[in-house]
Amino acid sequence: MKTYPVYLNGELTVTEKSFPVINPAKGEPIANMSAVDRPMVAQAIQQAQTAFAGWRQVPGKGRGEMLYKIAIELQRRREEIARIITLENGKPLTQSQSEVAMAVDHLKWFAEEARRAYGRLIPHQAEEKRHLVIKTPVGVVGAISPWNFPLALAVRKAAPALAAGCAVVLKPASQTPLSAVAFAECVNVAGLPNGVFQLVAGSAPEIGLEFLENPSCRKISFTGSTEVGKKLIEGAARSVKPLSLELGGHAPVLIFDDADLSDAVDGTLRAKFRNSGQSCIAANRIYVQRSIYEPFLKAFVEKTKALNIGDGLDPEVQIGPLIDEEALNRAQEHVQDALSGGARLLCGGKRVERGGFFFEPTVLADVPKGALCMYEETFAPVAPVCAFDKEAEAIEKANQSAYGLSAYAFTRDLGRMFRLAESLEAGMIGINDGVPTVSAAPFGGTKQSGWGRELGSEGLEAFLETKHISIGI
Ligand code: NAP
Repeated sequence: MKTYPVYLNGELTVTEKSFPVINPAKGEPIANMSAVDRPMVAQAIQQAQTAFAGWRQVPGKGRGEMLYKIAIELQRRREEIARIITLENGKPLTQSQSEVAMAVDHLKWFAEEARRAYGRLIPHQAEEKRHLVIKTPVGVVGAISPWNFPLALAVRKAAPALAAGCAVVLKPASQTPLSAVAFAECVNVAGLPNGVFQLVAGSAPEIGLEFLENPSCRKISFTGSTEVGKKLIEGAARSVKPLSLELGGHAPVLIFDDADLSDAVDGTLRAKFRNSGQSCIAANRIYVQRSIYEPFLKAFVEKTKALNIGDGLDPEVQIGPLIDEEALNRAQEHVQDALSGGARLLCGGKRVERGGFFFEPTVLADVPKGALCMYEETFAPVAPVCAFDKEAEAIEKANQSAYGLSAYAFTRDLGRMFRLAESLEAGMIGINDGVPTVSAAPFGGTKQSGWGRELGSEGLEAFLETKHISIGI
């Protein structure tokens, strides 16, 4: 079995230690990934620090041109890299193709944003002084990414950091490191100076600790669970290390009786079942106005039952496996817990008896408020649905969560759209839209969903320092 390399100082390097990468559609290993130890992480940071000195001097236009070259290489290899994503993550090939296209678009967006790290001139208060604000790159960034969108979420950090003039040490999730290796190969072909982008892999606590404790690592950008995010906050308190945190979510979907029912069903299907429900912005709680509750359930269950489950490499498949056995067990536990609390099982509800980690797309109705799936991330194709009567009640229920990443609503009432936009506690709100993410708009959450934003112009800002220069004339 092939052992994939890390990427250090411009070299794709196979190390002495490695760990297996499993195909979740079969539950079998497909490759080994090289692992680094803590001294190697320290060395990677040191090399990045050296490379940073040169990279920060390249004008934004030149950095943007380099990002564009990486985008072109990723685009050229799109079919092969989409297959890699499906093999290590399990998602259907069409969704992996969309993920590669999204990563290419992120690179192109930040290639353009690289030129726009604007400062400003502040009108002076005293005749003998002038005040400038300039933006400078924060330095070496430790980036930690999850397995659910293994390419796009790594690129969502690397692209803006590189555009800002930072150097990056990326640690991908151990379950899906191969897409990150493919990205490193694209970086290599594009000719990014050695050390500006480094790829490490291996023990997360060790790598995380080195990022936290090494003074040359100036910022950590993390996407993953709220649990690990909290550990990073604790560690960062010791050195006041800046953190960007994209953490868990528990998105509510509100469906009002003035909505186009068919659009609401299709939008909710996308928001729930994309990536088998393993998305931080996945619909977790679906609230439907009572007058259309039963018609919605009927149409939603019909379409859920029609979803084709299987190995993502099969072009007909719409629902791939979950990432591992633990994810299957959590899905099963959430379903059992809801049923024991009085929920009605309308379809699905159990693991699919075949190799790999497949769970049936599941719809639960009348789910009680206290059920686990109503407040913990299920991260599986399980859709809990409940009824509501009034708009104010729906908003109150939607906001009853420790998370605040995304929320969805289906309505044709313009006034209601604005009321929802203003009162739902979430960083992203899809109104009549089940997939609201675009490169040009900020992505991130409130409450325990994290700190800061990726994408948009805010995505570049996350990797810039703001400096005030006061000049006596
Ligand atoms: P996770 O367990 O927190 O892992 C995420 C990353 O953190 C992985 O690279 C993991 O490495 C690493 N990690 C684990 N323990 C660490 C430690 N002590 N120090 C430093 N790094 C550590 O999360 P996950 O299960 O992969 O991803 C699912 C979660 O991510 C969900 O909660 C989801 O909502 C969230 N997510 C959020 C967003 C967003 O933008 N807000 C996007 C996608 C996913 P190993 O793989 O080696 O353990």
